[in-house]
Amino acid sequence: MTEGKIIKALSGFYYVLSDGKVFQCRGRGLFRKQKVTPLVGDYVSFEAQNEREGYILEVFERKNELIRPPIANVDQAILVFSAVEPDFSSVLLDRFLVLIESKNIRPVIVISKMDLIDDETKPIIERYISDYRRIGYDVIETSITTKQGIDQLLPYLKGKTSVFAGQSGVGKSSLLNALRPDLHLKTGDISTHLGRGKHTTRHVELIEIGGGLVADTPGFSSLEFIDLEAEDLPLCFPEFRALSDECKFRGCMHMAEPKCAVKAALENNEIPSYRYKHYVSFMEEIKERKPRY
Ligand code: GDP
Ligand code: ZN
Repeated sequence: MTEGKIIKALSGFYYVLSDGKVFQCRGRGLFRKQKVTPLVGDYVSFEAQNEREGYILEVFERKNELIRPPIANVDQAILVFSAVEPDFSSVLLDRFLVLIESKNIRPVIVISKMDLIDDETKPIIERYISDYRRIGYDVIETSITTKQGIDQLLPYLKGKTSVFAGQSGVGKSSLLNALRPDLHLKTGDISTHLGRGKHTTRHVELIEIGGGLVADTPGFSSLEFIDLEAEDLPLCFPEFRALSDECKFRGCMHMAEPKCAVKAALENNEIPSYRYKHYVSFMEEIKERKPRY
């Protein structure tokens, strides 16, 4: 019996990576025993029949699961936001961050297309970068034109399962190509894989980059807070989480409660006002369960 990780699922076969080798496996009897359909990203035990084939015996418990693309055990989301083209949007970034935090995935923020930035936009972007760094997020500035930040991003992938996320056109496939030049992904390619309007779900595959595994399809295509409860939201803002012990009420939602440490920090400009504004609007959205953006 050997252990490995499913990196691809196709036509009833699961491709399990184990010790640098890929085994084409069947999920024989799995569904009957465990009532689970294996997902790309699953850690499994399998019985090798020979050097290339085997069958899966057990799917190990998942730490998380994305629905679109269907992938399990994601460690990290590389959140790509362009400085310009399309313009940087802090509300969209906060929305992605909440979704990622709520799945127990570590976010890494990439600000792409730094070569296109002009003198007017530069201080605005720099301000955002310093705000997000102050919260504790890693922020990497990149450009595929000047190769800025590529060497800095690559080590983040090592030993992890990562998904790239972000709006279409921000440069996700360009970055993947820069990180692994033999890939030759067509730019715009991984976004079109989302197949907006198409009914077929494209299969997702994990590819090796920088000593880690990266999904070839971007994650978090649905940006609605479907599984999120109102009580979860304060936990998805790390700078609020850090202050919540100082709020007068346990389980303070930082809304109308008196003696709230988050609101005090907001008044002292220790928390950027846009972060709190987004928090309130997400809270209302969760309560209404209707998307606003
Ligand atoms: P995706 O939809 O997120 O995968 O974005 P793509 O990788 O397809 O990039 C969209 C467009 O932006 C393409 O025309 C790229 O050449 C361009 N692009 C991506 N990254 C950069 C960058 O760092 N600098 C510049 N100038 N253009 C970029
Ligand atoms: Zn509070």
